[in-house]
Amino acid sequence: MNARAGVVYLVGAGPGDQGLMTARSLELIAAADAIFYDRLIPPGALDGAREDAELVYVGKQPGVPSVPQEEIGERLIETAQAGKSVVRLKGGDPFVFGRGGEEGEALRKAGVEFEVVPGVTAGVAATAYAGIPVTHRDDASAVAFVTGHEDPEKEESALDWPALARFPGTLVFYMGVKRLAQNAESLIAAGRDPGEPAAAIERGTWPGQRTVAATLGTIAAAVEREAVKAPALIVVGEVAARREQLEWLERRPLHGRRVVVTRARAQASGLAATLRSLGAEVVELPAIRIEPLIESEEVRQAAGALGVYELICLTSPNGVRLLFEAMEAAGVDARALAGVTVAAIGPGTARALAERGVLADVIPERFVAEGLIEALEDQEVAGARVLVARAAEARDVLPDALRERGAEVDVLALYETVREQPGEEEIEAAQGADYVTFTSSSTVTNLTEALGDRFPKDARIVSIGPITSETARDAGLEVAVEAERHDIDGLLEALLADAGATLQTDG
Ligand code: SAH
Repeated sequence: MNARAGVVYLVGAGPGDQGLMTARSLELIAAADAIFYDRLIPPGALDGAREDAELVYVGKQPGVPSVPQEEIGERLIETAQAGKSVVRLKGGDPFVFGRGGEEGEALRKAGVEFEVVPGVTAGVAATAYAGIPVTHRDDASAVAFVTGHEDPEKEESALDWPALARFPGTLVFYMGVKRLAQNAESLIAAGRDPGEPAAAIERGTWPGQRTVAATLGTIAAAVEREAVKAPALIVVGEVAARREQLEWLERRPLHGRRVVVTRARAQASGLAATLRSLGAEVVELPAIRIEPLIESEEVRQAAGALGVYELICLTSPNGVRLLFEAMEAAGVDARALAGVTVAAIGPGTARALAERGVLADVIPERFVAEGLIEALEDQEVAGARVLVARAAEARDVLPDALRERGAEVDVLALYETVREQPGEEEIEAAQGADYVTFTSSSTVTNLTEALGDRFPKDARIVSIGPITSETARDAGLEVAVEAERHDIDGLLEALLADAGATLQTDG
């Protein structure tokens, strides 16, 4: 099942979208002692690798010296013979223009056992993501994968242009950008119709995927004009015109937009995933981290005696999560809230409660402290014991307002948000951002301080609400978009509206 010692796994990582990695590839990556990987593997492909795994980059980059093919083979053999399980990770499929065949032969010769794990090849995936079916009942009953760039050491062209010109179906050229003009000319000279639809797909299945449509006669000029760069596929065939009906990815509302998410890593995944599903390229630049404070005596005591309160106010999903962790540590469960009125600041917080079996009694219409104060107006609080469970650094408007109305308020700090230094790579990736999203004042303050003059200059600032906007303005930023509803869905709606798109899903 898992990676065995002394075995080399020739694994395809797919064309770029992490979601197209096979279950088997992920399982092997997670188990391997050593991973030799190429340049064109999906971002994050190695995230699941063991911490002590040996990760070796053996990619080839045009114009940069690289590890020669024989040496790769030798190192695979050595590592396997040293008793390790080895994953050789390649873009797309290892046996489709991936030199997996050569590596397998070298392994067999050395007596090293291997397994081949196919991957989704670019010729099928980039085309599908571009809305081009490589076969079609009406248009193409065959498809050929062709190399557009042959081994320069080969003396004669192995490509039979007359045969390719006659080929009754779709031609998909890998590595075809550099020699596109020559190849198109050869095809036409051999008799293929220059009017036949054609397309170039750049960075297929990656966030920046781009498709340029033309005809066989004009594709070279179009690719040059649009500056299409490798990795790209060239498709020649009637099916290329089907894209007009079948294009889907590049029509997504945020396709081609780069959006920075600044929430704490633990919270960012929902927003990031929704943005990605809308087509955005997401850069996670967490400026804060949640530091739980539930070990304190104060929290322990309060969590074990929630029944003394008539009203408990929760102001974030994190607060809910940590309150329940503290309750568990104190040996109580949701039943401890049986006689207590529970107020949530917004739907996210209410959802976190519902997941734990508690339906919030009060949810305001505006998801800020002031909204919660209004929503609690009908609540008799004079003389009542109230618990406000929240972040250490939160504003005091809610407890103050409740005290003014005669409540006896305990404020319980369940966590604090602390500064997180974003990684260099992420900061670099954020430079070309179209949008930076802020979901709280602390993200604004921490990110602007952490980035200084490397804050992405041309990005439009999207703020979740007035308090965050004010902090942003104080930090010298111009707020381009402010959410009308002060939660994540509201922020998404506002961003989409600004991008000239409308939300099709309900988030
Ligand atoms: N083994 C790989 C192909 C390696 S050859 C596979 O099965 O997909 C490298 C060529 O593959 C590139 O020059 C390009 O033509 C194509 N390619 C790889 N990934 C691509 C992508 N995401 N989009 C478009 N073309 C891609």
